[in-house]
Amino acid sequence: MEYNSKTIEFAKKLISFNTTNPPGNQTHCPEWIENLLKEHQIDTRIIEHDGTRNIIAELDFGPGKTLCICGHWDVTHANEPEWESDPFKAIEKDGNIYGRGIADMKGSLAATLSCVLNIKKHNPNITGKILFIAFGDEETGSERGAKRIIDDIADELDYIIIGEPTNMNPKIARRGTILLNLKVFNSEIDASDALHKIINSLSEVNKVNMHYEEPEEFCSIKSKIINSEEIPRDTTPDQVELSIDVRHMKLNTLDDILNKISTSLDRLGAIYKIQATLVTQPYNTKEGKLLETAINSIIQTTGRMPTVETNDASSDARFFAKKGLEIIELGVNDSTIHMPNENCSIKELENIEKIYYKLITSLLGN
Ligand SMILES: [Zn+2]
Repeated sequence: MEYNSKTIEFAKKLISFNTTNPPGNQTHCPEWIENLLKEHQIDTRIIEHDGTRNIIAELDFGPGKTLCICGHWDVTHANEPEWESDPFKAIEKDGNIYGRGIADMKGSLAATLSCVLNIKKHNPNITGKILFIAFGDEETGSERGAKRIIDDIADELDYIIIGEPTNMNPKIARRGTILLNLKVFNSEIDASDALHKIINSLSEVNKVNMHYEEPEEFCSIKSKIINSEEIPRDTTPDQVELSIDVRHMKLNTLDDILNKISTSLDRLGAIYKIQATLVTQPYNTKEGKLLETAINSIIQTTGRMPTVETNDASSDARFFAKKGLEIIELGVNDSTIHMPNENCSIKELENIEKIYYKLITSLLGN
């Protein structure tokens, strides 16, 4: 069989469409993807939400497992003056491709498209179904994309691969983020004394680590006293304000932490105000054949043993994770995403396509 990789050509084409989100309502890019799939006789449908087009294509190889490989076609603002070249015209330099979205994530979207077209053309010995999805609106919260669509399709899926940039390592979980703002007012208790006590109460909160019996990195708390430097030593401040940044892996962390802080401060008789912002919920996925096959495909392609990753930030994986499915995120280098002069090496783009191909044909292979 003659494998014909189009990853680099497709990546350059995808970059040429300015799909900055917001607004994220561009039609040229999803239309191009739709037409390309249709030209290759792949069943393709569009699901449009509030002007944003999401593409779902299906390759059916008979009864078996269903694998979904997906990504997003929107990109973050380029801030053009900071670029050395036009962010929407891909250029090759020193073995890299530069352009907005090459890493996040038009490069891996191109690799997926190329991979899917080759599978369609050569019909390798596989059974089951491949669902290719190009979502819109990932960069502003997926309200017009994955969030609205996944509920309708998740029941029919077994494996999900998301091509987000992960440094060629499979990612199986992401920590949630909670931001807290805590103000303690000067009242019957001395606020400067309260300052001291709050810090103690925070060390109490830090015991959450042990409470969860998770590796330490699964719940970290950073706190910062906002106005302590402005308080002269010999005066009593009106209030003490703290910002607290919590990264965690458990869904009920917010309630637990609020309880701990309130209990400590109530015991002191303090008057206080806590404002909590749940930035992202964590997710954790089921480990199984998908992860194992991904690791093998990476080793076979690159000769490198990958590390299984978890970290912060969010992706569309969180919507699939609710369904208890096997999910991995796997894509290229993330070192320049959302930055000026975003780039990715051609070698990595070629490798990610090979990894996807091996992964899909092994999982669905006979
Ligand atoms: Zn992304």
